Amino acid sequence: TRSALTDADRAYELDRAHVFHSWSAQGQIDPMVVTKAEGSYVWDGDGNRLLDFTSQLVFTNLGHQHPRIVAAIQEQAATLCTVAPAYVNGARSEAARLIASHTPGDLNRIFFTNGGADANEHAIRMARLHTGRQKVLSTYRSYHGGTHLAVNVTGDPRRWPNDNGSSGTVHFFGPFLYRSAFAATTEEEECQRALAHLEQVIALEGPGTIAAVILESIPGTAGVMIPPPGYLQGVRELCDRHGIVLIADEVMAGFGRAGRWFAIEHGDVAPDLLTFAKGVNSGYVPLGGVAINDAVYRTFEDRVYPGGLTYSGHPLACAAAVATIQTMEDDGIVQHAAALGDDVFGPRLADLAARHECIGEVRGTGAFWAIELVSDRETREPLAPYGGSSPAMAALIGACTRRGLLPFANVNRIHVVPPLTISAAEAVEGLDVLDAALSEIGARQ
Ligand code: PLP
Repeated sequence: TRSALTDADRAYELDRAHVFHSWSAQGQIDPMVVTKAEGSYVWDGDGNRLLDFTSQLVFTNLGHQHPRIVAAIQEQAATLCTVAPAYVNGARSEAARLIASHTPGDLNRIFFTNGGADANEHAIRMARLHTGRQKVLSTYRSYHGGTHLAVNVTGDPRRWPNDNGSSGTVHFFGPFLYRSAFAATTEEEECQRALAHLEQVIALEGPGTIAAVILESIPGTAGVMIPPPGYLQGVRELCDRHGIVLIADEVMAGFGRAGRWFAIEHGDVAPDLLTFAKGVNSGYVPLGGVAINDAVYRTFEDRVYPGGLTYSGHPLACAAAVATIQTMEDDGIVQHAAALGDDVFGPRLADLAARHECIGEVRGTGAFWAIELVSDRETREPLAPYGGSSPAMAALIGACTRRGLLPFANVNRIHVVPPLTISAAEAVEGLDVLDAALSEIGARQ
């Protein structure tokens, strides 16, 4: 309608005049207006409907405007919008119980934060106080958040401009066979060599100086690299041998995204600390947290934990988490995500890779996939340089959006990360758009 368009135009103008955007050169962006969203779809300022293959920033795991989450937020708002963290609140207590009922091992206590970065900050603080050690080891090709320490342990190019005073952070290579740092040719070799490399890094850094190893159970933004069988167990063993706290960052991979409640279940190990955000409540209200095992918890039983947040366990956010987790349980969302991976994304993305020369590899599980695009299959030259973009990637993104698909693009990759509630038919609709867009740019090359 005419007034909706006017509203969209005004929102855009005010945005450009007054809103400062994340990770952007402010004068060089042309952000899309979103006026409406429902289920797996969003509508832009011109009224075009787009299938959301991004879950925004991989957080609307139950899709947009899920009625149960909306109702839970409304009910909580009508009852008690907010209360300070020191008080007991029913929504917070129930959210903590539900989260702890799904986390692996003895991760029985939940410290709530506002998002993923501060969850990682607090997990590292807990690990340092628990061990009395300072250093933190993390992988290249990772993302752990935008705050000072979280961006320092991050292993993607967003760290570079922020890497001033790294606070005892050390990076190592995780397994990634397609671009192996170890000249490996099989998953088995990659696993063994990546573990031998980590063992050496620990030895050379001094095991007695290392508080924590933090890793994404499946690195997400960096490219959805599924760890080879045995890798996570191997890291767990190294941590146990040296008294190092293992922190699993499940901010993106957790809450069903990888076809399990938590992606670390693929490796059949339990971390000492597990961080979460995003999918815990589909991102409807900001929420993150740290799940804490009994051993780390005991450190703070009679000793003050020196940390906290005004909004720790905010009732609106926790009510959204309760509704999200209950819906996931009632509707079999985790099983649906696993089946989407096995029956739709796995086979259909393999078929795309067989037909499009510019696809070097597809990999993933559940509703968590990456398409690695290359300009040359033999040399595996990426379609955009590390940390950058390219005209070919921009053309692909444009071709997708013109055809009604919102794609998640990162460097030389398209990630397929729709809501876990997407139907098989919608998933196929999105993959067909990708197919056509890939043909379009393939024809131009
Ligand atoms: N950790 C991982 C694995 C993430 O993917 C992200 C965000 O994308 C974060 C941490 C940071 O979360 P937030 O942006 O909520 O601080």
